[in-house]
Amino acid sequence: MLTPMQIKELLDENRAHECDGFGRDHVCVRIAAIADLPTRFGFFNVVAFYNNRDRKEHAAFVRGDITGAQDVPVRLHSECLTGDAIGSLRCDCHDQLVAALQALGGKEKGILLYMRQEGRGIGLINKIRAYGLQDHGYDTVEANLALGFRDDEREYSVAAHMLYSLKVKSIQLMTNNPRKIADLTQYGIKVNGRIPLVIPPNQHNRFYLETKAIKSGHLIDLDGKEHLVEQDDRPILAGMSDEVASAIQNL
Ligand SMILES: [Zn+2]
Ligand SMILES: [Zn+2]
Repeated sequence: MLTPMQIKELLDENRAHECDGFGRDHVCVRIAAIADLPTRFGFFNVVAFYNNRDRKEHAAFVRGDITGAQDVPVRLHSECLTGDAIGSLRCDCHDQLVAALQALGGKEKGILLYMRQEGRGIGLINKIRAYGLQDHGYDTVEANLALGFRDDEREYSVAAHMLYSLKVKSIQLMTNNPRKIADLTQYGIKVNGRIPLVIPPNQHNRFYLETKAIKSGHLIDLDGKEHLVEQDDRPILAGMSDEVASAIQNL
């Protein structure tokens, strides 16, 4: 965990922080508050960030002493209210979040960056609209198009700045998508490796296991119902066939 001295130092350094910003949008973030956060996955520090672009208050859930550390395991997670908090089965965000926190909880050091970009950046209202369209039998193409719209550039520039603010020297990215490494690297983050995110099977994510068809980035369950992809980094489910697992990594 971060010591009271380290917390004070981070807060002091960030109080007046201003820089040219990261990425096309010149995103600059500041650590605004830090607290202890005991969780069912282990002990974390929660770090709340202010940013100069929108009112989104991103958060880092930090395990161990990561300041100045090398090879820190890092997972990027995009907010999904319905999945993360409520356990919606329309997506697999909850399983992904829990798997990431469980994995981090077993490590000495690690960070979950929780990006406040509901529905892949389109916001809650638009996401629920897309769900509503599907409920009324509309083609999911329209819904998926809406959900597919997001600003990746901003996500990575914010994440890179957050890691910089936390004074992390290098990371191991928890991802099944090798391209993510290049995305973060272009914003100056040293990514020394990749840790695959593998989710243990349960009754709710079973649909992955038997998925035969993966097309245009979404998955179809046993009842032939499409699931919207809200996290753009697909997990691998333990027990999944190699064929499906490798298809996911190439999405
Ligand atoms: Zn800055
Ligand atoms: Zn979701």
